[in-house]
Amino acid sequence: MTVAKDPVAVDEATGDARVPAMADYIDRLITVEMRNRGMPAGKIIPLYEAARAEAGDQPLAYLAASGLLARTRRHDTVIIVTGAGSGPLIPKGENDGPVGAAVLARALYWGIGCTPVLVCEQHHAEPVLASCEAAGVELRTVDLATSTHAGGALVTAPADQQEIPAWSEALLDRLQPAAIIAIERLGPNSKGIVHGATGLAGWDPLVDLAPLFAAAAERGVFSVGIGDAGNEIGFGRIADDVRRIQPHGGICQCECGAGMATVTATDVLVVAAVSNWGAYGIEACLGLLLGKDDLQHTPREAERIILRCLEAGGLEAMFCTQRYFVDGIAGESSVSLVQLLREMVRIYLETPDAGVIH
Ligand SMILES: [Zn+2]
Repeated sequence: MTVAKDPVAVDEATGDARVPAMADYIDRLITVEMRNRGMPAGKIIPLYEAARAEAGDQPLAYLAASGLLARTRRHDTVIIVTGAGSGPLIPKGENDGPVGAAVLARALYWGIGCTPVLVCEQHHAEPVLASCEAAGVELRTVDLATSTHAGGALVTAPADQQEIPAWSEALLDRLQPAAIIAIERLGPNSKGIVHGATGLAGWDPLVDLAPLFAAAAERGVFSVGIGDAGNEIGFGRIADDVRRIQPHGGICQCECGAGMATVTATDVLVVAAVSNWGAYGIEACLGLLLGKDDLQHTPREAERIILRCLEAGGLEAMFCTQRYFVDGIAGESSVSLVQLLREMVRIYLETPDAGVIH
């Protein structure tokens, strides 16, 4: 692993890259599963272990952070794609995804100076906008954001699937992104059908944005995928494992019969118990790599982002309400996780000191 701008992970004696031990603990924290037993439960550790093995036994959030840091510079554009859920019960989508996308936009903007461009479907736009605003990243037009570097931008995808490939090429031509990230963005299975975590399909509206990732890969754009089930863009790296591990990975509940495991891969896959937590983990690793103990957003900001997302219509996806929950887990738990990650980074970056009685 080559890490160019890394004050922490370069061995001072040899100049070689090394991974701080804290990176393993960050992965551990963001993969602590708490999922209702009516859902596919007990799956995060097997998915994580499969992804980690496939990645050469590297800690995944750190791999994503170091990859982003090595490939992006100040004023580079980074695309962040999110948005899951549609239809009458959850018309503007869920709050897992937009919250993490906003946190990543914040970290890339305030940490590196990148211009984040959020990409989602039109019906997901309001929660994405609200989350980013709450995170301290105003979203403006692409022209204004890329010319002034004041905040980021929001781009919505066409509703017609036929238009997605040409739109993807045009977007990449226009933005020339240094990296592209998918968080809780569902990808297609081997038959090109997008499924939910339990193998259901047929949402409307829903476009498949995998062609954007295929076009980015052809151009050599570094990509990261973050998910918590195996149907999200990125899990194509371990599609066979998802089919083996998830009850509906290989056999879905729709007529296609090919399972919910996506075949869309990214350069780095980050598995987390909640997709937003994957973003929190990458943010923590960026803080480690940049040597910034204040990069991680605060618990107070974490609460604000989740609440603003909910109020804008990004619902918790278990019962489709504005209850202060994310993926069936109380909002306070996400906020507490942010506090723990922030503290881990702060302590790691302290001047080595055993105190006065050790
Ligand atoms: Zn199916």
